[in-house]
Amino acid sequence: MSFDFDLFVIGAGSGGVRAARMAASHGAKVAIAEEYRFGGTCVIRGCVPKKLFVYAARFDGAFQDAAGFGWDVGDVSFNWQKLVAAKDKEISRLSDIYLKNLTNSGVTSFSERAEITGPNEIKLVSSGQTITAKTILIAVGGAPYKPEIEGAELGITSNEAFDLETLPASITVIGGGYIAVEFASIFNGLGVDTALAYRGPEVLRGFDMDVRTGLTEALGTRGIDVRLSVSPTKIERQGDGYLLHLDDGSVLETGLVMFATGRVPHTSGLGLDTVGVTMGQNGKVIVDEYSKTSADGIYAVGDVTDRVNLTPIAIREGAAFVETVFNNNPTAVDHSLIPTAVFSEPEIGTLGLSEDEALSKYGEIDVYKSQFNPMKNAVSDRVEKTLMKLIVETKGQRVVGCHILGPDAGEIIQALGIAVVMGATKADFDKTVALHPSAAEELVTMRDKSYSRTA
Ligand code: NDP
Repeated sequence: MSFDFDLFVIGAGSGGVRAARMAASHGAKVAIAEEYRFGGTCVIRGCVPKKLFVYAARFDGAFQDAAGFGWDVGDVSFNWQKLVAAKDKEISRLSDIYLKNLTNSGVTSFSERAEITGPNEIKLVSSGQTITAKTILIAVGGAPYKPEIEGAELGITSNEAFDLETLPASITVIGGGYIAVEFASIFNGLGVDTALAYRGPEVLRGFDMDVRTGLTEALGTRGIDVRLSVSPTKIERQGDGYLLHLDDGSVLETGLVMFATGRVPHTSGLGLDTVGVTMGQNGKVIVDEYSKTSADGIYAVGDVTDRVNLTPIAIREGAAFVETVFNNNPTAVDHSLIPTAVFSEPEIGTLGLSEDEALSKYGEIDVYKSQFNPMKNAVSDRVEKTLMKLIVETKGQRVVGCHILGPDAGEIIQALGIAVVMGATKADFDKTVALHPSAAEELVTMRDKSYSRTA
């Protein structure tokens, strides 16, 4: 049978674009369709614009700290529209590059929604064109989820947060995950009176407990009104703002409500049921270790599979799919030991197992923990401790978890990740000479274990 294309990719985000370009480099005839903007969530309304906003928000702390070092910063003001325009310019530049790179790789691009209509058939929704392909890759990502409460439509999500016409005087962010703590820190830094309402006892469920406790406290110290163990029940308009009702009976008056209550795979209406692709909770595409779905010739990578929802993982899954299908080299992605950062203020960098996970996996662990006042704070008078924590499995003395809360945590954990992925032991850390004065030197100077635990 002959097909129009060897590979048709639905979704031009991180995973889809990587797969399309790599498959083309192996000589495959490839097409890709994108219904919104080339670059996907990360480039258009995720990691990239978020990090630009994080940079903007951190000037607030820098201005405060500057006084202790002799600077008289004077009156400062912030222009939201200018930041949004600068962000828009940068993401347009990046989106253009994504499209150009696809073209240069010989990939045919369609700027419209595509849906699957048969085992090897795709329909382009706007033009009505039908296309056949030997292999289809679903890389459509995810979309924000809002809980079903009265007035939920009045709240925004991260999608809208990037393009607000004006910055509200106050905001309440609902949720306690990555997006919630990052956006609460951004709005707080930009001078918005910020509250965070989370249903759990400490933010960032699944992270190491010391990091969770440390960040929860630090958000409060930085001026965020952190409400824990509460869920929203209703939102209603009040004047220019809103009333947010919580299940503890309290009602928050707020200028804006933002839901950061998770994301769900973007599979609705894609036609997956018509071709027998098995889907799980919230419409995620179920795949095997090679990213193959239950239907022959149909694969899926990235957030739509809800494995580990991070850009570098989608990219790896896209590359592994191409190795498997177009280079005759079955390749599975290792989803363990992934360094990750949360760009809250203060920042988190984490890798490997939390203390509790390591205990249940290894049965016996040594914990090295240091909490200290960074040198910069001594002069700036900021009260905020940095936390560094190493989890070591007692028997083999391998470092199996590393958790940092403090400035530059993400940058530190990326580099440290190489050693941990290589299987470094605590003795290897001890062997490494400290770089002084730095915060990261603490990681190689923690000689005495804080405590050991046995399951
Ligand atoms: P997360 O899954 O991290 O967090 C969702 C939050 O919403 C959790 O705190 C959850 O509570 C809460 N929640 C879920 N449902 C409800 C509900 N019905 N009512 C009240 N609260 C609710 O999702 P995010 O949207 O923050 O981020 C999505 C993904 O994007 C992340 O998993 C991450 O992989 C990725 N990401 C990565 C970033 C980075 O690398 N820096 C930055 C941003 C996103 P509970 O904990 O109790 O379940």
